[in-house]
Amino acid sequence: MEIKSVGIVGAGQMGNGIAHVMALAGYEVCLNDISAEALDNAVQLIRRNLDRQVSREKISAEDRDAAMARIRTTQALADVGKTDLVIEAATENEAVKNKIFAALVPELLPHTILTSNTSSISITRLASRTDRPERFMGFHFMNPVPLMKLVELIRGIATDRETYDSCLAVVERLDKTAASAEDFPAFIVNRILIPMINEACYTLYEGVGNVQSIDMALKLGANHPMGPLELADFIGLDTCLAIMNVLHDGLADTKYRPCPLLTKYVEAGWLGRKTQRGFYDYRGEVPVPTR
Ligand code: NAD
Repeated sequence: MEIKSVGIVGAGQMGNGIAHVMALAGYEVCLNDISAEALDNAVQLIRRNLDRQVSREKISAEDRDAAMARIRTTQALADVGKTDLVIEAATENEAVKNKIFAALVPELLPHTILTSNTSSISITRLASRTDRPERFMGFHFMNPVPLMKLVELIRGIATDRETYDSCLAVVERLDKTAASAEDFPAFIVNRILIPMINEACYTLYEGVGNVQSIDMALKLGANHPMGPLELADFIGLDTCLAIMNVLHDGLADTKYRPCPLLTKYVEAGWLGRKTQRGFYDYRGEVPVPTR
């Protein structure tokens, strides 16, 4: 099935990025949020990000204007239902997502493919609450969406071949690359990345190295573009902890136990860049390690 229109539920950090790349690739986009303010902010941010691409000569002014013209915003979920592909990118909370799917299902066209951008919730479980588990799957973008090349496509237990192929064709039209993942906790990227960050926290906790030496070691010793603690601050320490808990609970293996120091930072409200303090303090001119 060829996808022509895309509905996006949630216009936050991920939803606005998804709307941006979809509109630029020529899809008609219907962007939904419960908050009118979130929708206004998303449209302004998409416009600013497209302007930046124009000034860097990545796209033309006509491309930008055509993309903006393809985006319509709505607070009514019913509008989203009348699209070929829906990507749910609302708050990472299973109750919130279930409520959205319950309200959305009666509004869907028979052929609509339903997907979620969730980082950690079981696709099979989300699908089981809808009327179309065979046309349901995970469509997991990376942050920031316009820059990151990868999309993880996650099949639930019931997802059919046509649904997977239609989503794969969308990823290719976005000029991104898909990694196919089975539906197990945290999928591929976060299954590997977040335990590495957690191990960096243990390395700090046990005094093997300080923040600076750990980050420098991985940058210069493993050729990583960012150190693991710097990256944790970028992702958000609360998000890292939540994903470790999903791995720990979902796989029931003590090797995934969250580092107590990571928990302590989260309890302190030191969540990384978004709160100006995490493994580094961002309140001054240059980031200063907090350990
Ligand atoms: P966010 O908090 O920036 O945005 C969530 C948006 O959802 C908000 O604007 C909120 O108003 C809206 N929302 C909440 N309830 C709603 C409802 N009932 N109907 C419509 N909109 C509703 O969150 P985010 O970082 O964009 O994350 C969204 C999803 O993407 C989550 O599932 C998250 O796990 C996933 N994800 C996040 C990242 C990341 O790095 N932030 C990366 C990959 C995937």
